[in-house]
Amino acid sequence: MKIAIIGAGISGFLCAYRLSSEFQISIFEKENYPGGLCSYACFDNMPIEKYNHFFSRQDKEIIRVINELGLEGSLSWKKVRQASIIDGRFFDMSRPLSLFGLPGINIFEKMKLAAFLIKASIAGDGFVLNQQTARVWVEGNCTKNVFERYFKPLMEFKFQNYNDVSAAYLWARIKEGKQNEIGVLCGGMGVLLDGLMEKIREKGAKIILGKTIKRIERTAKNKWLLHDNKSFMEFDCVLCCVSLKETMQLCSEEVKNILNIPDADYLNAGSYILKLKRPLRQGYWLFLNQSECGLPNVIIDTSPLSGNNIVYCPVYLRAKNITEKDRENIFNNCMSALKNINRDFDQTWVEKKMFCQDTSVEPVLTNEFIEQVFSGGGRVGGLYIPEAMYERHLLKTVNTQAVRSKLVFERIMERNSG
Ligand SMILES: Cc1cc2nc3c(=O)[nH]c(=O)nc-3n(C[C@H](O)[C@H](O)[C@H](O)COP(=O)(O)OP(=O)(O)OC[C@H]3O[C@@H](n4cnc5c(N)ncnc54)[C@H](O)[C@@H]3O)c2cc1C
Repeated sequence: MKIAIIGAGISGFLCAYRLSSEFQISIFEKENYPGGLCSYACFDNMPIEKYNHFFSRQDKEIIRVINELGLEGSLSWKKVRQASIIDGRFFDMSRPLSLFGLPGINIFEKMKLAAFLIKASIAGDGFVLNQQTARVWVEGNCTKNVFERYFKPLMEFKFQNYNDVSAAYLWARIKEGKQNEIGVLCGGMGVLLDGLMEKIREKGAKIILGKTIKRIERTAKNKWLLHDNKSFMEFDCVLCCVSLKETMQLCSEEVKNILNIPDADYLNAGSYILKLKRPLRQGYWLFLNQSECGLPNVIIDTSPLSGNNIVYCPVYLRAKNITEKDRENIFNNCMSALKNINRDFDQTWVEKKMFCQDTSVEPVLTNEFIEQVFSGGGRVGGLYIPEAMYERHLLKTVNTQAVRSKLVFERIMERNSG
């Protein structure tokens, strides 16, 4: 069976890794380099991950793949500190009881919040929550003030306009747990990408870079045609390892009508990478817990891990492209955020800076999206969209893409045997 994979990001490689022992695989990537969001940029004459990636102990599927590839020696687990900065004060959030130190929430609310977090983290399937929004869910279980003080800055960081975001999204975030210990690949995500590429190529799969697929179409004989404007190629199956939004843009009208996927907002992402002359502060994940401080309000300081004084300042913009003006604002906000974290900081500490950005990095999980895409969405034989596959994993992370690639593999094997 001939299978085409569109997109040489981590999802495309994970699918190819599983399928290439059984089938003839071709992977098409529009860029001249692989990796998608896990790819590298050149910074200070060194390759550096565009976005900083880490794993948690619960990321079982990707850890399994790392072990299978013999890369377990490259994965190290580090204790890190998470801190919230509120009104210029530094709150270490790494300990379970740290909640009780938060200002602006009374003791009764703190107890409700603690009970809510425990209940949510042991609750079952996120689907049960999908009839309400995150805000309603929190306000119903805690108080309005708890939402405002504790959750709103987090929701604003991700969505800005969060009023329609599903409770299931927040449930999945809480389930992920606190990242007091994170798994980092020594050498970054490139180590995993290289390991996968080596195995995929060994098994005879082709990785074709610099090839943009413009359209996909189903033939009367249930084969799939991939068009790149100049020519077309025929396959038995297609895996769209790009976002659902990009998949819909590729599909012919006939396929789009069967899939019947609703238009959803997607998040665009950007990140300033800064090399500082001095260490910022001891803490890996630093969260400025105030809505008014602007984006970014999350700063990831990699120094505690590597000692290199590299700081990531990520932002997400909902359904909005990042303009030159946005970049300027984001940089100015970064400077204020860093000053909030360390009062001695000033702009002269910034030795080098770089901005990376990508579009459609993940869907905004509204109740409508979850219901139609994960549980009901139409299916077309021979077309697989990992992003639209659900197995108790709502968030789009490297691990969830590994779980979904396994589901794709199982479905294709079933189809092949039946
Ligand atoms: C700021 C940020 C931080 C993150 N941190 C973490 C983290 O710490 N841990 C974690 O697990 N996850 C993290 N993630 C999420 C993780 O990066 C993504 O879930 C994962 O990389 C998605 O991989 P993908 O292959 O599905 O998509 P992508 O990486 O987007 O790959 C899609 C590929 O398809 C190509 N493509 C698109 N259209 C076409 C076309 N028409 N023809 C050919 N090729 C095409 C693109 O060029 C791209 O290479 C983070 C993401 C961001 C944005």
